[in-house]
Amino acid sequence: MDGAVAIVLAAGSGERLGQDRPKAFVELAGRPLLAHAAGAALTCPEISLVVVAAPPGGEDLAHAMVESLGAHAVVTGGVTRRASVLAALRAVPADAAAIVCHDAARPFARAGLFARVLAALEGADGVVPVVPVPDTVKRVDGDVVLGTEPREGLVLAQTPQAFLAPALREAHERAERDGDEMTDDAAALERAGFRVRTVPGDPGNFKITTPEDLARAGTIALELARG
Ligand code: C5P
Repeated sequence: MDGAVAIVLAAGSGERLGQDRPKAFVELAGRPLLAHAAGAALTCPEISLVVVAAPPGGEDLAHAMVESLGAHAVVTGGVTRRASVLAALRAVPADAAAIVCHDAARPFARAGLFARVLAALEGADGVVPVVPVPDTVKRVDGDVVLGTEPREGLVLAQTPQAFLAPALREAHERAERDGDEMTDDAAALERAGFRVRTVPGDPGNFKITTPEDLARAGTIALELARG
C-alpha cells in the first residue's frame, strides 16, 4: 500500500530507563532512538511521511533529529500514549489510506517489517507483528502464584503495526470518548470490533525499557556496525 504515513511515538518520559532525558532522545550507537525508528520507517518505500509525537518542550530537538531522514512533521505528544497517537493523527493528511504506528523505543525494527505489516492490510483493518511467548506464564497476586496460563494461543505484540486510516481514527476517537487507555494501537481496534490479524514479528525487534535493555541494544548495535 503506497503513500502510507508512519506515526513514531516518542513522547514518553522513559522513567524506567533512568536517563537524564526522554527515552526517545537517548543515544544508541551515536544516534538517538528516535532517529533509528524514524529512519527505518522512511527507508520503507511505501512510507512517504513520518509524524513524530515528541515530548512537550522537545519538539525542536525531535525535528533536528529526523530532519535529514526524509519527509516529516513533529507534533507535541500527550500525557498518555493514546493522547500522543491522537495528536499525531491530527497531522496525518486526510487522504492517507494507511497508517503505521511505531514506538521510538524499538530501534531494531527493519524497513522490511514495515513493508510486511502494510502488505498484510489486504483483508484486515489492522496488522500486528507477533513473536511466540518463550517462557511459562504465571498469573500472580504479589508473590503468590494463582495459576499458570496456557501458552498456546498467546503471542507477544510488537510495533510497527499497520492500520487502515479510517479504522485507526475511529478506534482512537472511541477510546478517548470511553476514557480507555491501552499500550498498543491494535488494542483500540480490537475493542472497537475491527479485524486485526498478525504477521510474524522479529525477535531482534525488542523494546528498550530498562537500563539492561539499553546495554544489550548497545552490544547488538556494535555487532551490527562491525557487520
Ligand atoms: O513507556 P513505553 O515504552 O511502553 O512507551 C511506548 C512508546 O510510546 C514509547 O516509544 C514512548 O515514547 C511512547 N509514548 C508516547 N506518549 C506517551 C507515552 C508513551 O509517545 N505519553
